[in-house]
Amino acid sequence: MQKKFDLIVIGTGSAGTAAAMKCKKAGWEVAIIDSRPFGGTCALRGCDPKKILVGAANIIDSVDRMKGKGITGAPTINWNELMEFKRTFTEPVPENRLEGFQKAGIVTFHGEAVFVAEDKIQVGENELTAEKILIANGAKPVSLPINGAEHLTMSDEFLELDKLPARLVFVGGGYISFEFAHIAARAGSEVHIIHRGKRPLENFEADLVDVLLERSKEVGIHIHLGTEVKSIEKIDSSFKVIGENGSESLELDCDLVLHGAGRVPNIDEMQLEKANVEREPSGITVNEYLQNVSNLRVYAAGDAAATEGLPLTPIASMESHVVASNLLKGNQKTPSYKVMPTVVFTIPKLAAVGLSEDQAKEKGYNYKVKVLQKDISSWYTYKRTNEKHAMVKVIIDEDSDQILGAHLIGQEADELINHFALAIQFNLTTYDLKQMIFAYPTAASDIASML
Ligand SMILES: Cc1cc2nc3c(=O)[nH]c(=O)nc-3n(C[C@H](O)[C@H](O)[C@H](O)COP(=O)(O)OP(=O)(O)OC[C@H]3O[C@@H](n4cnc5c(N)ncnc54)[C@H](O)[C@@H]3O)c2cc1C
Repeated sequence: MQKKFDLIVIGTGSAGTAAAMKCKKAGWEVAIIDSRPFGGTCALRGCDPKKILVGAANIIDSVDRMKGKGITGAPTINWNELMEFKRTFTEPVPENRLEGFQKAGIVTFHGEAVFVAEDKIQVGENELTAEKILIANGAKPVSLPINGAEHLTMSDEFLELDKLPARLVFVGGGYISFEFAHIAARAGSEVHIIHRGKRPLENFEADLVDVLLERSKEVGIHIHLGTEVKSIEKIDSSFKVIGENGSESLELDCDLVLHGAGRVPNIDEMQLEKANVEREPSGITVNEYLQNVSNLRVYAAGDAAATEGLPLTPIASMESHVVASNLLKGNQKTPSYKVMPTVVFTIPKLAAVGLSEDQAKEKGYNYKVKVLQKDISSWYTYKRTNEKHAMVKVIIDEDSDQILGAHLIGQEADELINHFALAIQFNLTTYDLKQMIFAYPTAASDIASML
């Protein structure tokens, strides 16, 4: 087995794959390692399987909204069948990814990679040496200081459940909790979300989050804010979750307690100290070229790298391309974080791109920030499907007329946010956007009226 490489990539997700493929294509000897089935989080345990479940939940919600408006009957989710459908997407991924690597001539290793020297990686029995190493390890759920934290079920396991339990409690009010809670509620479970802070989904605009909270409550999701989970007790086959809200305590009996309290870089077990690789709480410390600041042969990308980039698939992939370019041509390329559209796939969806109102003011646009906020639920696009919850907030630089940020809630938010992403990327003004002719009747044809 070959042991010397030009590049070793740790992780077969979006941050690892593109760089491995590009360097191999340029003639480098490349090895790639993963401790889990090849394919990474997004394809196997994140975005893709999740959105299949969201798709089914959307059907339930649409039918529910259109009752008495031409739709009769009440579909239900057959969880087991839905999971089988989901597996038709996820199961082929590891084999396909492996085949892709092998066909390209990349040498593959299964196992936990650890550093044994600045240029050496141990994986199982193999000690591999490389000129360059890319850390693309991704993230893992943060460990929580809760008595009984071992009873928490992780997002990976939720996406593999053969049976959806009747009573679920989510610890933490991040996007994973909200997305899964909306799926489970439409599948008929009783759902609670317990969040420590006063505001969940802190990275999204508060007014729009309030709209989501209103709809979440309407569909039966119980949200407990300002409440800290103290312990999880296992009682026979169920659990008791105990939380504290100031002087008041909260006690919930349930069948499953899920971790939705955030993820951190998965780099604790890598023996980074043996390779002089500097790190910080948010990941591997990198310069503007995504190169580690202390061990120059090491680069990092994706959820494992301490960058301004949000922990999202398109960002991991963009960073992987940046690393590939810097490896092949020398440090020249820097990642751009100007446009990072992000969507919470609840029903309705919540989406954001660019600056929030507060960020725009912090960046010095202070007196020049124009904020347009509209409740758009009465517009044709939403009335047509009897949607009661839709809002838009656009942040504009008054001097240049350019769009600085856009924030949306509604069932069309995921596609609409991409139009605003395009506008921000190419410095379009509101005047430009208003000139654009979009097909009618589509959600995008509302954009001029939003401005
Ligand atoms: C439930 C869920 C839903 C999500 N939904 C979305 C979404 O809708 N849209 C979106 O953009 N993003 C979403 N994300 C985030 C997205 O999945 C990640 O940002 C993205 O997958 C990061 O890619 P990566 O390559 O950095 O890491 P990963 O895809 O996690 O890949 C890292 C790989 O490294 C391997 N690894 C780790 N340590 C070692 C080691 N020491 N040795 C060998 N291998 C190792 C892991 O097994 C893993 O396969 C979601 C995440 C989750 C958990």
